Amino acid sequence: MKTKNIYNYIERIAELLKVSARQAGSEHGLQPVQLEVLGYLSVCNQFSDTPMAVTRYLGQTKGTVSQTIKVLERKGLVLKESDINDRRITHIKVTEQGSKLFQDNIPPKMFVNACQDLSYIQQKEIEASLKLLLMSFIKSNNMKSFGTCNSCRYNEKISDDSFYCKLVKVPLTLSDIALICIEHENIG
Ligand code: SF4
Repeated sequence: MKTKNIYNYIERIAELLKVSARQAGSEHGLQPVQLEVLGYLSVCNQFSDTPMAVTRYLGQTKGTVSQTIKVLERKGLVLKESDINDRRITHIKVTEQGSKLFQDNIPPKMFVNACQDLSYIQQKEIEASLKLLLMSFIKSNNMKSFGTCNSCRYNEKISDDSFYCKLVKVPLTLSDIALICIEHENIG
């Protein structure tokens, strides 16, 4: 079995990603975890932008997430909004400034450089293998998948650019279905 070798490679890559995130974040006075939270909030949908969802996605404590959101808010990168139907629920929205910082820094430049040195076919192979490993990790440990609508069993295609979520019963646009969701459940 290759378990140990796979683990060692992934662990080393995770360490290098932390180094590159630290470098990218330091230019803006952000810790890697703060960049991670901003990254998650930049790609999650309207059902997944709560402090609880951030906690579950990143596996961080409630305290760390709460402190991180405060820092991002102070820097003008996110803002809090109460849910229009349930005032007890708070959504964390990324501001224009936060969105620009995300676009400019994630993935970090060091990682982009590494990928650019690989051919398109090599990148496709790595993408497929990592996706397989991620799916297996989630399935075998009964974890939340945090996938996009494209692969969700609740997504119904109405036309080429309109969709419907059968779980939360709302229409979805093409841009909605590219965002990750805490309620996602794989087809089949
Ligand atoms: S279709 Fe699935 S992934 Fe998309 S919003 Fe609904 S539950 Fe979430």
